[in-house]
Amino acid sequence: MVLAIVIPCYNEEQALPITAEKLLRLLDRMAAEGLAAPDSYLLCCNDGSRDRTWEVIEELHLRDKRVKGINLAHNRGHQNALLAGLMTVRGHCDAAVSIDADLQDDPEAIVKMVKEFHKGKEIVYGVRSSRDSDTWFKRTSAHAFYSFQKNMGLETVYDHADYRLMSDRALNLLSEYGESNLFLRGIVPQIGLDTAIVTYPRAERVAGESKYPLKKMLSFSIDGITSFSARPMRWIFITGLVLLAVALLVTVYVFISYFYSDHIEAGWASLMLSVWILGSMILIAIGIVGEYIGKIFNEVKHRPRYAIRDTLWD
Ligand code: UDP
Ligand code: MG
Repeated sequence: MVLAIVIPCYNEEQALPITAEKLLRLLDRMAAEGLAAPDSYLLCCNDGSRDRTWEVIEELHLRDKRVKGINLAHNRGHQNALLAGLMTVRGHCDAAVSIDADLQDDPEAIVKMVKEFHKGKEIVYGVRSSRDSDTWFKRTSAHAFYSFQKNMGLETVYDHADYRLMSDRALNLLSEYGESNLFLRGIVPQIGLDTAIVTYPRAERVAGESKYPLKKMLSFSIDGITSFSARPMRWIFITGLVLLAVALLVTVYVFISYFYSDHIEAGWASLMLSVWILGSMILIAIGIVGEYIGKIFNEVKHRPRYAIRDTLWD
């Protein structure tokens, strides 16, 4: 079984030599144990780094041909760099594992993933068993994002980032998703196939610093929701309906005050009614438009409608 390990790299000149060395040793060991073929390899995807990352990849490649590389013309973000890597190894491996360049995800879990692959699993998710090494802030904000996304209708695997194994068949199915707002954690669970989970403790970065500050994390999370769910628009519609119900109560109140109270300002009743009824109607109207936009949003993605797993035809 040929294993490809795909590593997106952005300004990782410090971490990459350590990471490559460690992963090559891991490949040696797996080859010795018969878990992976000796020509298994690493693919480093340089995501338009500003530092010497590409030179480092070239040096590693000269020393050991099992380190392969692709160099993106400019910085396109973690998800796109990862996809570029996965699509490059597609057809040239039996399974691919994606892992960050900073070794925060324990490489030993790759052995467990490959064992699951040998048992017939086609997608194996790496899930963090603890986040003790993350700062309190990173941990709490990440967990808040997970539950917020879930409420917004996005199905993801809890505490799983982009550390996973995918079989070549899974990569082929992934290649049919043509969307450009890429959120792999949401797409991969939609692919189907037999899946498994392996857990590992998350460690500190081996070198360098995080390329995911809060600003990027926030926009990543919003990207995830808006790429998968039109539910926020439905909420506008529902809010409109609730406000319309309130508007009806307000109407009753206005009529009672109008007929039974003797100190009513001129124009108060008509103003009150217009504000409430018009306000809720406008929200409902936006919600209805939203439902259609939601449909368009799903259509333009041209996502595959189904994936056939097995056929019996003779
Ligand atoms: N990365 C990338 N392009 C970017 C930002 C990050 O390819 O624009 C890579 C980075 O080199 C690393 C991975 O994505 O391999 C995850 O980034 P990082 O470890 O900084 O994120 P964190 O673990 O702090 O969330
Ligand atoms: Mg990291």
